[in-house]
Amino acid sequence: MDLSLLQTRGISVLEKPLLRDFTTFRLGGPCPCLVSCTTPRQLEVAVGEFAAAGRKFLLIGGGSNLLVSDEGLDAGIIRYYSEEPAIRCHGDVLEVDGATLLDDLAVFAVEHGLDGLVYASGIPGTVGGAIAGNAGAFGQQIGDRVESVLLVDPSGRKQWQAGKSLGFAYRHSRLQDSGEILVTAILRLPPGDAAELKKQRAAILQQRREKHPDWRKQPTAGSFFKTLEPTAAAERRPAAGWFLEQAGAKSLRVGGARLFEKHANIIVAEHGCTAQDVMDLSKRMAAAVKAKFGFDLSPEVRVIGRFK
Ligand SMILES: Cc1cc2nc3c(=O)[nH]c(=O)nc-3n(C[C@H](O)[C@H](O)[C@H](O)COP(=O)(O)OP(=O)(O)OC[C@H]3O[C@@H](n4cnc5c(N)ncnc54)[C@H](O)[C@@H]3O)c2cc1C
Repeated sequence: MDLSLLQTRGISVLEKPLLRDFTTFRLGGPCPCLVSCTTPRQLEVAVGEFAAAGRKFLLIGGGSNLLVSDEGLDAGIIRYYSEEPAIRCHGDVLEVDGATLLDDLAVFAVEHGLDGLVYASGIPGTVGGAIAGNAGAFGQQIGDRVESVLLVDPSGRKQWQAGKSLGFAYRHSRLQDSGEILVTAILRLPPGDAAELKKQRAAILQQRREKHPDWRKQPTAGSFFKTLEPTAAAERRPAAGWFLEQAGAKSLRVGGARLFEKHANIIVAEHGCTAQDVMDLSKRMAAAVKAKFGFDLSPEVRVIGRFK
């Protein structure tokens, strides 16, 4: 595959990068190449090049929901991520590129007096990553606002589809398994009062500062396990963190991986931590809950590459 061809199209290419530089856990070994795309056009060109060369790739956004193994990956990476928001406003309808940061979209909606996204304030990562994983908080999720999406599949074929076709469920959409990439999304939002929304945003950011680690300073990927389905065992309280706390997981540690002092479902990586430490700690957390409550936790963080 001719990477210089991509560079001549203004697309940044790194050879043998360490993926720890592209994840909020600050963990992950090397991959053959990382192609950074900030616009739909660059993304189409990059996907087309991989398809023409018959080479597999993995798509990432902000890397805020990933645990990448220490030995890295054999496949190349396409990163679709931009710190310059690309959002078009048509009344109560927003058209946004998948590379745009979710928090930038939340700010835009608040400033334009549009409700329905303020809960996303402070969630790291891109709009593409958020829609792929149906990101949410405070009982709301982005999938509820998605009207339609422009997808590109790994062969380079583009298609607009209805939001409903993505099969949104709790922290899930079809995109997690299909390999399709979200290029652009159209969201319809209810009207709100900009001043009131600003207050709500400030309160949510304050709450996050108090209850979550600051991922820019303390490497983490947020909640490691999914909130439970309301099954018989979980009826009392479905937050995974509650069960982990009751099972005594908060004091667990493996190597440089430990639990955040204020939240038993958030793993933080200290200096010298390996991805294997995080994996081993997560297994011990799940085993503690299984031993005390008899059910299995399932990871919310996407695990990539080979672990022991
Ligand atoms: C401190 C902290 C707090 C968090 N709080 C929350 C929270 O409250 N709620 C919540 O839901 N999550 C939370 N998260 C998790 C994470 O921020 C979200 O899951 C986020 O939406 C992931 O987006 P990303 O761009 O970083 O995706 P990545 O981590 O880069 O990728 C995650 C998955 O999405 C896929 N993907 C990425 N971009 C695209 C695209 N354009 N098209 C198709 N697939 C794509 C990737 O292939 C991968 O499978 C938190 C994380 C941290 C570190």
